[in-house]
Amino acid sequence: MTILDFFVKKKNKSSAIYGVEIRRSSKRSRTISLKIKDGKPILSCPNFINDNYLRKLILKKKEWIDGNLKKKKEEIILKENQNFPILGKLYKIKFLYSESEKTENIDNEINIFCKKEYQMKEVFLKWLIPKSEKFLKKRISILSKRHKLSFKDIFVKNYRSRWGCCSSDSKIFLNWKLILMHKEIIDYVIIHELTHTLVPNHSKLFWLNVSKYDQNYKENRKWLSRNGTKFINFG
Ligand SMILES: [Zn+2]
Repeated sequence: MTILDFFVKKKNKSSAIYGVEIRRSSKRSRTISLKIKDGKPILSCPNFINDNYLRKLILKKKEWIDGNLKKKKEEIILKENQNFPILGKLYKIKFLYSESEKTENIDNEINIFCKKEYQMKEVFLKWLIPKSEKFLKKRISILSKRHKLSFKDIFVKNYRSRWGCCSSDSKIFLNWKLILMHKEIIDYVIIHELTHTLVPNHSKLFWLNVSKYDQNYKENRKWLSRNGTKFINFG
């Protein structure tokens, strides 16, 4: 078991043709519409349209559907007994029925208290995101002092396509999902952004500076580009 094995994808239970969810309307509506909602293709049509017609229509629209699906990312859910990584360590997720919502960590377990299992992710994120923010702010202040790289301000945000960035006036933005990965990877991303306060681009000079503060930056960068998307899609 590695920290890369924590992903559980949501299952689609409704009726479907070629992976497209079919929603038939009993109303007098005569229109057929096809859209992508929450990463799933959905076709709405009047009740009287038969499956054969829909099959032909979906095949005709396949290119459009595939193109749009690639843009949307699959939703990653949280399930009882799954393993979840925090700072490179795996924790067992436990669902505990409770009227009031809270999350607590005891040893290797994360206990999530809520009414229904599907509410776990939301309750868990309310606990995890502030924890991440606190950790990343502390870490950037340590690394900034250690390497004498100053920054103007730090913001922790939810991004789906980047781990961090640095503005021209030295404000640093970090993705809260960094907390899911090993400390070495987090430090690499923070050092990368702090180095941008000296060199704004990705020139040779930039990487030369990064290498002074993180001797393993090449391996860390490679690991992140190989595995990062799995973590960035959560939340
Ligand atoms: Zn950069």
